[in-house]
Amino acid sequence: MTAENLELDVLAVFSHPDDAELSVGATLLKLKSLGYRTGVLDMTRGEMGTRGTPEIRAAEASEAARLLKLDVRLNLEQPDGHVWLTEESRTALVRVLRAYRPKLVLTAHWDDPHPDHANTCRIVREGARLASMRRYDEAHGQAAIKMPSIAHAVYSRRVIPSFIVDVSDFVEGKMAAIRAHASQFYSPGSQEPQTRISEQGFLNQIEYRLRYNGSLIGVAAGEAFYVREALNVADPFALLTRPMNIYS
Ligand SMILES: [Zn+2]
Repeated sequence: MTAENLELDVLAVFSHPDDAELSVGATLLKLKSLGYRTGVLDMTRGEMGTRGTPEIRAAEASEAARLLKLDVRLNLEQPDGHVWLTEESRTALVRVLRAYRPKLVLTAHWDDPHPDHANTCRIVREGARLASMRRYDEAHGQAAIKMPSIAHAVYSRRVIPSFIVDVSDFVEGKMAAIRAHASQFYSPGSQEPQTRISEQGFLNQIEYRLRYNGSLIGVAAGEAFYVREALNVADPFALLTRPMNIYS
């Protein structure tokens, strides 16, 4: 799914075709319900995956995009398992950012244990900065953009969230979008090799994580984010009188 010249509010950039769903799927649904234009950029087609094929995974990603109500889902076609911060990968990302002009980018955290995820994060941080520099890749003919804000999905317990999004109304939608990647997750009749994420308990763990993050802010479900920069709060009273959990 592509749509040239579509301006996005939010772009989620993750490594493999199911990562955005697993990491920020409910937040993307919430942002869409608030009226924002949302997109996902997958860095690879997931061809290194133990299960499925690139063709199957593309069809699953397209169905998941429909369930997440995305305005666009793009693929940068970097080599799966070999995502590196290079001139080529940075430039490819800069071109997407300049084409879709998102004001907010959601991505992985640099401390993620999967090298593709950590490197995707680095490509995003450098690409977002470079996209704002007029002379970078100038010959390609795209205008520079204002550097988008970046929020990192929190998976590691070593990263303390900067904020947690209340996604209580979007748990089912997120889980449905994850299950659209049917080749990757538990299915009783599957003859494919077992992987960590295709074990029966994995999807339960994803939901427990949503519930746990929700409990930290006193709501039914949450997705956690880390922001490197200081957050600029317009109304501290409104922020600090939202539901919270003193035992978080
Ligand atoms: Zn991944």
